[in-house]
Amino acid sequence: MSSQLNIFPAIVKPLRDELLSSWLYRLSNVNVSKVHTFCRFHFPEHQVWNRDIDKLAPIKMLQLLSEKSGVSLDEVKATTLKSYEGYLFERLNSFGNSKWIMPLGIFHRTRKNFGLQFCPCCFIKDGANPYFRKSWRLSLSVACSRCKLILYDRCPFCENPIAFHRVELGTKNNLISQMPCYCSSCRNDLRNATQIKCSDNLGNIQKNLDQMIKHGYTKSHQYSHLYFDVLYQIASILSSQSPQMEKFQEFVYSSLGLNRPIIGVRGEFDHLKLEDRINVLIAAFWTLNNWPRRFIGICNKTNTKSSAILRDFYDCPYWFEEFVKKSIYHANPVVSKRHLQ
Ligand SMILES: [Zn+2]
Ligand SMILES: [Zn+2]
Repeated sequence: MSSQLNIFPAIVKPLRDELLSSWLYRLSNVNVSKVHTFCRFHFPEHQVWNRDIDKLAPIKMLQLLSEKSGVSLDEVKATTLKSYEGYLFERLNSFGNSKWIMPLGIFHRTRKNFGLQFCPCCFIKDGANPYFRKSWRLSLSVACSRCKLILYDRCPFCENPIAFHRVELGTKNNLISQMPCYCSSCRNDLRNATQIKCSDNLGNIQKNLDQMIKHGYTKSHQYSHLYFDVLYQIASILSSQSPQMEKFQEFVYSSLGLNRPIIGVRGEFDHLKLEDRINVLIAAFWTLNNWPRRFIGICNKTNTKSSAILRDFYDCPYWFEEFVKKSIYHANPVVSKRHLQ
């Protein structure tokens, strides 16, 4: 019998903000199947665990999942990272890194990067059904605004990346389902991770950002991604190795009493470790607050050029580009040929 015709014997629906891979894991658990076997049987035409399925799930697989689970296609789509389109970014980049999404660094079925985070308190509050949130894949998620705790970007016991789809490996004879809240490397229960309180300031910033994503607009922007595109550029500037941005960085971090992150070769914001992302995010959020007065003040005091601000900003929103070009210092103003004659 073709697996295409089989609906799942047991169904669980996606929980609030649940990530596709987490839902697949729980579906396999209620069907008393290991997650790799379950996906091979029900989605034989699709590679699931050796790719970033939360980012790249093909529509055909999502349709099949909807038919087999009885969950509407819209609800199924909402579990993928593509659902942030129009909210956090205009378009997800399927062919490479995508802004705000932390890369998993997939090597076969293992994970080399710290691309998935968790909040130990959320797992505890989940009771019998601990699950992974979609927002835990985002580089701008650094704290849990619900629990007011700092997230973890790795297992605190062995410091390996989180890879819950591997929790069942090596448990061949154990049919009792394994909850995803255990570390697949050291088998420790992630619910036992120390709960680290976040500052009120960070909690408020996180809450603000979460709300903007949820609603899809901000106080000053009809589309929230027009704000997030600029926030990402400022975060990139604040974690750049460019000597041109050194003064700007020093000014911002010292104004806030924060350590300037020591940026390695890969300075991209989405690749930074959690501690560094926290400082960069606080600094970027502050830089854009009291717009435009604070921003102009920083640029003037540090002699920052408009070309440095706009460097590599290919999809710069009009509101920002227009402002920077008009109001920030131009070292080499564009002079038309007519003026040179
Ligand atoms: Zn939480
Ligand atoms: Zn571990």
